[in-house]
Order: sequence, then C-alpha cells, then structure tokens
Amino acid sequence: MKSIHRKFIKLSRRLIQDNNRRQRIRNALKGYEAKRGSTIERFQNWEAARQVAAQIKWEAINHLDEFLPQFVDNATKNGMKIHWADNSYQAQSIILDIAQKNQAKTVVKSKSMTTEEISLNSALKKKNYTVIETDLGELIVQLKNEPPYHLVFPSMHLSKEEIGEIFAMHFDVGLTHDPETLTQIAREQLRLKFLQADIGITGVNFAVAETGAICITENEGNARLVATCPRIHIAVMGIEKIIPRMQDLALFLPMLATSGSGQHLTAYNSLYFGPRKTHEQDGPEELHLIILDNQRTTLLARPHQRELLHCIRCGACLNICPVFQNAGGHAYAAPYQGPIGSVIMPYLRGIHSWKHLAKASTLCGACTEICPVKINLHHHLLDLREQAYRLKRNLLENSLFKLYTLYALNQSRFRPILRLFYYLQNLHKFIAGKPFDPFRRWCLRRELPRLRRHSFRSFWRRQRKNLPRLMLK
Ligand code: SF4
Repeated sequence: MKSIHRKFIKLSRRLIQDNNRRQRIRNALKGYEAKRGSTIERFQNWEAARQVAAQIKWEAINHLDEFLPQFVDNATKNGMKIHWADNSYQAQSIILDIAQKNQAKTVVKSKSMTTEEISLNSALKKKNYTVIETDLGELIVQLKNEPPYHLVFPSMHLSKEEIGEIFAMHFDVGLTHDPETLTQIAREQLRLKFLQADIGITGVNFAVAETGAICITENEGNARLVATCPRIHIAVMGIEKIIPRMQDLALFLPMLATSGSGQHLTAYNSLYFGPRKTHEQDGPEELHLIILDNQRTTLLARPHQRELLHCIRCGACLNICPVFQNAGGHAYAAPYQGPIGSVIMPYLRGIHSWKHLAKASTLCGACTEICPVKINLHHHLLDLREQAYRLKRNLLENSLFKLYTLYALNQSRFRPILRLFYYLQNLHKFIAGKPFDPFRRWCLRRELPRLRRHSFRSFWRRQRKNLPRLMLK
C-alpha cells in the first residue's frame, strides 16, 4: 500500500506548482472566511455554542449504545426499513439488492460523502445502472470523471471557463462562462431525471434518536427532489450521525451552515420521518436507511480517538488548513480530505497504508481552533505520527537522534562538533544537488540554514560586556 503514499507525494508535488489553481482556491476561501466571520457574530457567544455542541456530540457518541437502538426503534415505527452494513461491500450489496428487486434502471443521487466512502457510484455503474449526481458541484466533477475536491465544495478547483467547457462537451449546449446560465443548464438537464429515476439516494446529516427522523441539509433543493420524486428513497449514514434530541438541531443546523459555508442557515433543511403515508400525496413508497459501521465501532472502542466521531463534516478544517490550500483535495486520494481526512482515514482504512497523512500537516493548530465541535485535530495528528513511528521505526533516524542527544546534552562535546559543521557547510556547495548530496531531497524547495560562526552563548557574553550595568539588573 506504499502506492497511496507515493500518490500523495506525486500529486501534491504536481498540484503545488499549479499557481492558477492555488489562486482560485485562495480566492474562494477568502470569501468564505469573511462570511464565516460575520455570521459568527450573530451567535450570542460562539465559544459557548462550540462547547455545548461538543458536549452534545460527546453525549451522543459515548451513549451510542442507547441512542442508536432508540433511533432505530422510532425510525422503524415511522415506517423506515433499516439495514445494517458492517463495511462498504455490504452497504453496496444491500443497495444493489434493493435496486434489483425493484427493477430499477436509473438512480439519482444528492451529495453524500458516506456514499463516496463506500464507492457506491462505481459499484452501481459496474452493474449497469445509470447514476446521476444532482448537486451542481458533484454533477460537474462526475462529468469530469473526478472525485470531489472538498467535503462541501466538490468542484471548487474549477474555473467557470472550465465548467463551461465541460457542459458544452456533455450537454447539447453552446459554450458559456456565465455562472447563472451554467446553473440554468444544469437545472434543465436534471429536472426530468428526478421524475424519471427509479431510486433516489441521499446521505444523512443528522439522525434524531428521540423521533427516528433523518435530517438532510442542502442549498440547491436537489436532495429534496431526490428524496421525494423517485419511488424508492435510500439514505446512507454512518453510525456517528446520531444526535439525541430534536432540539439539538436548533444548534447544529446554524452551526453546520456557519462553519461549512458562512451562511446563517442552509437554504433547505428537511426532516424525513418515513415513506409516504396513505393520506399523503407525495414522497417515496419505500424509505430504506443503511446504517454503516465501516470501522467506526473500532474507533468507538478507542477512548482516546473516539472524539473523531464527533465530526459533523462541515469542512471548516479543510478551509483553514495550509496543506489543503496548497496541495489540494485530490492529493489525499481519499473521500475525506484535509485535517479530518488525515486523522480519520488511517482508522477507516488501516493505519499501515494511510499513516503518511498524519504528516500532511504543519501542526499549526488552526484546524482545532476552527472546529465547531472542538475536535482536538492537531493532537490527533501528533498521536497518529507517534503510532506511525512505533509501527515502523527508522533505524537511521533513531541512531542519528541518539547521537545528537549524546552531544547536545554536553556543551564541551557539542561545541567542537558545531565548529566542525560550521567549516564543513562551506563544502556543501560543491555537492549541492548531486545524487550523493545527503540534503538533496530536503533542499528541493528549501534552503539549508547556515550555521553561525559563534554560538548564541558567546554572542550573549559579548553583548553583555557592552550593556550598561543598570540594564543587566
Ligand atoms: S473535524 Fe471539525 S472542522 Fe473538520 S469537518 Fe469535522 S466538524 Fe468540521
């Protein structure tokens, strides 16, 4: 599985050099920061709201053994059909089974990271189902045959010119770069698909234990059409989406919108209690809910890492992360990118293959500061680095650090070594960049710092002599 690591290095190296793309991301995120900043001011006390949200998620996750059965009981009473999936493969098979039993041909989907996690689109396509993404950003990346770039903004890396070209290539329309016209084209293309589809697949933002309802929040209204127009609605959620009470939504909905896109509230917030009742005129005939584990219970069993299940997938940590901003979402080659992706992917898919992501961070701590549910992300990144180190100790690195400690702790040994390196560094220019240069890779994008002739201590001693006595007291 070294290939995932290599892919990350290769892609991030290439993407970092794409200045246009980086500028586009920076522009998009500048608007987000300003909007988020002003929306936060509408909260009486944002920090207190974060604290309460963190406590509610702690309660939900630490009492999942009570809340999950309560939710399932209520959802079943409401008429939902509950399916449990241990892993991606099981989730795919359940969905394929439902599709086959109902002789479905076309599937419309709204944006759902959990279905990205289980690679649902490729599983459906392999069985010859037509799958249509209906979120504008998701539709664009689907047409471009790319995975989403960001948890919330799947096509943020593309310019309006590129989107115009994609639409002109796939739909029978002229080339345009006007965002409103492009949106209108997507709307016209999709409208009929909602009505023709046999199955609609959505994710779930929150599942309320108290009532057995699922909540879906979105901006385009497409998820509502996906959930209500086709005869069958399938919703896919991870076990961590549970919240205890209906009133908790009053905090989580504005908090998710504020952190995700800087809005007060997303445009559409829908609650689904079950399929269409006999006296109702619209809605699906069947509502299937797939509850996915996929290693979440393993994470739940680890008290120190459990809080990673508090994530509400707002994407704020991605927006603030300097590594995400520069390397970009595709470099992670994962359904979850940025700091949350770096800490959660190793647990979902195996630390051995994904531990490299723990190093995709500057450890600046901005992600922890911005997280609305107060997940200590940079602590988890450090923790993963430690686990990765224990899994594969680097003998050379270990010995070098031991040697360094031996000398650094003793001044009389350390000084002559420093002096020796001071002179040796002048020779480095003769081998710089050559295959046998030990610093070659490190210096690809950095300069080797120069050692000073005199140590700080001797510098200080000299300065001290020149300082007036009074200043020294
Ligand atoms: S870790 Fe926090 S900031 Fe990042 S996506 Fe999850 S909730 Fe949002």
